[in-house]
Amino acid sequence: FNVLGIESSFDDSAVGILDSHGNIYAHVECSQLLHHLPTGGVNPVIASGLHKQNLPPLLDQCFDRSGLTPKDIHVVAYTKGPGLGVSLLHGANLAVNFFRENLSPPRLLIGIHHMLAHALVPRISNRIAFPYLTLLASGGHCLLCIVQELGISEVIRLGSTLDTAPGNVLDHGARLLQLSRYPEFSECSGGQAIERISLRGTLRHPVLNILPRDRNANFSFSGLGSSLEYKLNSIAKQRIVSYQDKADLALWFQTSLIRHITTKTQNGIRFCRIHFPQINSLVVSGGVAQNLAFQKAVTELCRQHNYTAVYPALELCTDNAVMIAWAGVEYANAGIGIESPEDEVHFIPRWKLGEDWTMKLTQN
Ligand code: ATP
Ligand code: FE
Repeated sequence: FNVLGIESSFDDSAVGILDSHGNIYAHVECSQLLHHLPTGGVNPVIASGLHKQNLPPLLDQCFDRSGLTPKDIHVVAYTKGPGLGVSLLHGANLAVNFFRENLSPPRLLIGIHHMLAHALVPRISNRIAFPYLTLLASGGHCLLCIVQELGISEVIRLGSTLDTAPGNVLDHGARLLQLSRYPEFSECSGGQAIERISLRGTLRHPVLNILPRDRNANFSFSGLGSSLEYKLNSIAKQRIVSYQDKADLALWFQTSLIRHITTKTQNGIRFCRIHFPQINSLVVSGGVAQNLAFQKAVTELCRQHNYTAVYPALELCTDNAVMIAWAGVEYANAGIGIESPEDEVHFIPRWKLGEDWTMKLTQN
């Protein structure tokens, strides 16, 4: 069977087609980054309008590139949540309408949890066995979970962020440093810009230790944003902030963020050692997982604990429709998540992943 995947959870529209083995026929996306950069942060009204405008032509383009026709599709998988309601709505509408008008048997409509799709996508090329631990670091989330089996009810949440998400704080940091003013970063996301400028930096400030004594696996990033602002202001009081100052600060900022994530992930790995000794891999995904310094630190952490770190291909770390279609392949094979177009609810903006065990780590 062939699966059409549709993603519109936040600010990127994407459409992709896979076969039942995960081979990609075509994948097209339309980033909204440049529309939102001037205002900093995503404007929901603009995001919604752009999804509405861009999704139908993306669908056509995807069929053109794949050489398939709508009759060749058997399963439609779309992002049901979590995300921005006014964005999710357009992907869900497209999915339901496409389902009604087209599709060959077995004719399946499947709503996908966006974060679980991030956690499943490495299986497209590396069929790591369940159960595994997963660290999802992205624009809106920071989650440490156990994926016991396929399906959101099979997920156990060991930790999540108490305030903002790592991608969001990196985007905020890039705005504070005004990185988009430099032509070399003008088309980069905040996280990418911080990663690139960090390569020219020297670590001149002590790396922050955020919540170092906590034994749980919850994350906190908002203090990091305030610290950057404070450091930047204190330099600005003395002199004009130079490119080199920014590179040094970016490196300090990125290193502190990575240190925090790895420290808390280590707490989760220690918990699993006792309660889930059969787990020996950590799947790392989400937009921030594209960061190579982050990957290096997480791989080293895993090496110390005899875990294997597994990453999706870099282009599948950030939002994409391949991961939604792939989750559709897995769900269709397992016969779960199947919906009817007549269902009342086709998108869930706030949708928690799995069972909450975060308190169990505190008691540990
Ligand atoms: P969520 O998945 O939580 O709903 P999202 O869908 O917006 O959020 P993704 O597309 O998975 O998130 O990730 C986008 C985030 O990843 C942005 O905040 C961006 O700055 C960050 N990011 C992208 N590339 C890098 C990089 N190389 N280093 C660090 N962060 C990065
Ligand atoms: Fe995402």
